[in-house]
Amino acid sequence: MARTPLMAGNWKMNLDHLQAVQLVNELAMALEDRNFDYSSEVVVIPPFTDIRSVQTTIDGDNLKLAYGAQDVSLHDSGAYTGEVSATMLEKLGCKYVVVGHSERREYHGETDEIVGQKAQVVAAHNMTPIVCCGEVLEIRQQGTHVEHVLSQVRGALAGFTGEQVAKLVIAYEPVWAIGTGEVATPADAEEVCGAIRQLLVDLYGAEVAESTRILYGGSVNSGNVKELMAQPNVDGGLVGGASLKAQEFAKIADFKHL
Ligand code: PEP
Repeated sequence: MARTPLMAGNWKMNLDHLQAVQLVNELAMALEDRNFDYSSEVVVIPPFTDIRSVQTTIDGDNLKLAYGAQDVSLHDSGAYTGEVSATMLEKLGCKYVVVGHSERREYHGETDEIVGQKAQVVAAHNMTPIVCCGEVLEIRQQGTHVEHVLSQVRGALAGFTGEQVAKLVIAYEPVWAIGTGEVATPADAEEVCGAIRQLLVDLYGAEVAESTRILYGGSVNSGNVKELMAQPNVDGGLVGGASLKAQEFAKIADFKHL
C-alpha cells in the first residue's frame, strides 16, 4: 500500500504569531515557485500562541498546508493552569499533535504511559497523534537502541486498536541527532523504522502495519532528505531547525525533485 509521505515542521518554541504568518506565507510561495505537486503532505507545528494566526492564514488563502500542535494536556478542561486541551486544538482545526517529543520526555518527565495517554486523547478528538520515540546516545552506544525504541512504541500504543494504529504517525528521532547536526545514516534510520514496522505487523497484522506512517527526525535537511526517503520504511520527516527556513523546508517537502 502506498503511504503518502509526510513532512512535519516542528517549530519548537520559536516565532511569535506575526513571524508565524510570515513563515507560512513564505513557505507557500516557496512551494509554488517549485511547482510543488503536494504529493507529500506538508505540515507546520507552531507554538500554541501561533496556531490561530496560522489557521486564519492557511484557511484565508486556501493553502494546501496542514498544521498541528506540539503537545496537549491529558485533561479536557478545568484547573490545570498553563495547559491546552485537545478540545481546544480540535476547535482550532489542528490535524496533528506531536506527543512524547524527547524534549517533553527529558524536561517534563513524560513517560511512555503518559505519551500513550496523550496519544489516546488526541485520537479521541479526531486528530492524528505523531508519537515520538528514540534513544539517547548511551543506549545507542550500548547497541540496545532497537529494543529500547520498540519498548517505547509498545508502551505508547498500549490501548490502541489496530484500526487506530493504521491512522497514526510514529516518529523515530534518535535523541543524539536532534538539533545537533548529527544525522543518523539512512541505514541507521531504516534499521529502527523497519523494526517498528515489524513490531506493528506482530501486534496488529500486516495490513495495519502497511498503513501506519513512520517518520525519521534528527537534523533532516535538503542535503540528506532524499537518501533518507529512499529507505522503504521511512515515510517522511519530523523536521526541527530546517523547518524554520521557508526555502529549505520547501526543498525538503519537494524531496522527489532534488
Ligand atoms: C525535532 O525537533 O524533532 C528535530 C528533529 O529537530 P532537528 O531537525 O533540528 O534536529
